[in-house]
Amino acid sequence: MKTIILTNGTIFAEDGIIKNGYLVISGKQITAIAAGSPPDGLEGDIIDVQEKIISPGFIDMHTHGILDVDFMESSYEDTEKALSAYAQYGVTRVVATMLSNPIPAIIAQGKLLRSVKQESPIGSLMHGVHIEGPWLAPRCRGGHAAEYLCIPQKEDVEAIIKQIGDVVKTLTYAPELENALWLTEQLVENGIVPVFGHTEATYEQAEQAIKAGARHVTHMYDTTLGYKENPEEALVMLPGMETAVLYYDQVSIELIGCPVHVPKPFFKFLAKVKPSDKTIIVTDSLVGTGRPDGTIITYKDGRKAYVEKGVLRMIDPDPAVNGNLTGSAVTMNVALGRLAEYAEITQHDAIKWGSCNPAVTLGIEQETGSLKVGKFADIAVIDEDFNVTMTLLQGKIVFDKEGCYE
Ligand SMILES: [Zn+2]
Ligand SMILES: [Zn+2]
Repeated sequence: MKTIILTNGTIFAEDGIIKNGYLVISGKQITAIAAGSPPDGLEGDIIDVQEKIISPGFIDMHTHGILDVDFMESSYEDTEKALSAYAQYGVTRVVATMLSNPIPAIIAQGKLLRSVKQESPIGSLMHGVHIEGPWLAPRCRGGHAAEYLCIPQKEDVEAIIKQIGDVVKTLTYAPELENALWLTEQLVENGIVPVFGHTEATYEQAEQAIKAGARHVTHMYDTTLGYKENPEEALVMLPGMETAVLYYDQVSIELIGCPVHVPKPFFKFLAKVKPSDKTIIVTDSLVGTGRPDGTIITYKDGRKAYVEKGVLRMIDPDPAVNGNLTGSAVTMNVALGRLAEYAEITQHDAIKWGSCNPAVTLGIEQETGSLKVGKFADIAVIDEDFNVTMTLLQGKIVFDKEGCYE
């Protein structure tokens, strides 16, 4: 079994920060973490990380794609290419997200993504699949096509669970829709995390679904309507879904790491009001992510957009549409750096929002999401500005910026 020893680093270990420490990997697992230098006689490939930070690899539980790859329509090879690209940003797990589409298309693509997860050498970077829509509130649909939105019909839910239920890990829906409570129960029974999103649910609708097992919120403050005015009492506010998901500690909340999608004060607000293991950063990134500013993307329907500072903006002859925000193109390391700045928290605390916290929500915290003996060696070597120099996926180097370690 191959042994790798990372030395001379600041280790963000599960039990705290170890300055000037070393970490030993045997095969896929972490086998030792300690301060100082490795003992004489320990055999293996030594990698001096030159005082950089040895961090848990990042988990992006909401991303639609990267480069020119969209997980809703990617081929086997394109999916592999995308997974390799995430590694340059320190990511060691993604939940590949599919946008609203007809149910048969979602099932067919879910099967393809499952084959990559099971068969490809880079497949273990994919934890599974996130179905986002088509069971969303029309008013809050955001970038989802109105024509595909519908209510969760029994036969559709059963077809998804039967055919791709093993690879589906999370499912975003609006809890106010007809059948949504039944849907929540079906998801829980089949080990899929029920997730609120694109919703204008009342407090009561959200609370009922939380009691039935809903546990997470997709990109809060973006296509989620928090409050309503009482039509019978002037200027009296009615609690909405926001109150329910902030009140119930078992619900985790994700923010897109982007100040255009999420105004900055929400980052420190969430850091203060939610339990520290229930706050999550995602990219919600689309095609175009990882490309330089100015890159032009052409969608399948012919519409065009361009990349600018981590977001995608429309290109359109109509000046009212031209330049409109159409999606996120941020990467996990940049998103986490922004979080540290906006929420005024340490780098160590910020990284939890993109490693152990998503691992807890996904139920994989026993195997990954933090650095501890016995867990997978899913590791990002980074500097204090969140620049990534090396990524290890289950003990294998999948990104090496300087190319000097292999
Ligand atoms: Zn969305
Ligand atoms: Zn999304």
